[in-house]
Amino acid sequence: MEKDILEVLLTEQQIQNRIRELGETLSAEYADKDPVIVGVLKGVVVFYADMIRHIQVPCQMDFMWISSYSGTTTTGQMQVRRDVSANIEGRHVLILEDIYDTGTSLDFTYKHLLSKKPASLKICTLLDKPERRKSGITLQPDYVGFTIPNAFVVGYGLDYNEHYRNLPYVGILKPEVYNR
Ligand code: 5GP
Ligand code: MG
Repeated sequence: MEKDILEVLLTEQQIQNRIRELGETLSAEYADKDPVIVGVLKGVVVFYADMIRHIQVPCQMDFMWISSYSGTTTTGQMQVRRDVSANIEGRHVLILEDIYDTGTSLDFTYKHLLSKKPASLKICTLLDKPERRKSGITLQPDYVGFTIPNAFVVGYGLDYNEHYRNLPYVGILKPEVYNR
């Protein structure tokens, strides 16, 4: 696994330090709001587990699983594979995401949750790749861990062909890995 990494973009220490900072901000923002923290599976799992322990105010955990429709005619269309289990109407909701890339999936998630009439809806993403944003996507994440350049990254929950999620850092793969 390690031997497939060309470059470490964010070390374990950098990520943990940033999460501690975000935790202070989010704990102040959500004090007395008992927010529902919604993680978007599966990429967010590692970030979620670390982040939630730094949100030191009462909150509720929930998860969504979305994916794009497979098949040729509906490319780019998203669907809810698993919805949140809490009733979020009138609740303060914070979406946790691994990465904001073209914006398609977060835009979809945001609209889906907004239709359930939460009292507030905000987004915290570990990584943001603004260069990749698709035109027409205007949604801005409220909290960003790191803004990164336009490169495909793995680790800390992010996969390539379902592998590398368990690396404790975020890195870039060697080009030959894609040709295997
Ligand atoms: P979107 O393009 O809709 O913003 O991002 C969709 C999903 O693509 C993300 O939630 C993430 O799972 C995946 N993705 C986007 N950029 C990367 C990347 O650099 N590395 C990995 N492993 N996944 C990515
Ligand atoms: Mg994701």
